[in-house]
Amino acid sequence: MPQSKKYGKGQRECRRCHTHRGVIRRYGLYICRRCFYEIGKEIGFRRYE
Ligand SMILES: [Zn+2]
Repeated sequence: MPQSKKYGKGQRECRRCHTHRGVIRRYGLYICRRCFYEIGKEIGFRRYE
């Protein structure tokens, strides 16, 4: 995964629902907050916080 480069003008897009709003790249997930929350429930992501 090309995470070594700082993202300049690269589009951040939710790779789950492809929205451009509220996308977070935390943990290299590149998903929007809504999906992050849903995925977090599915895989128990809260354990990493
Ligand atoms: Zn999403």
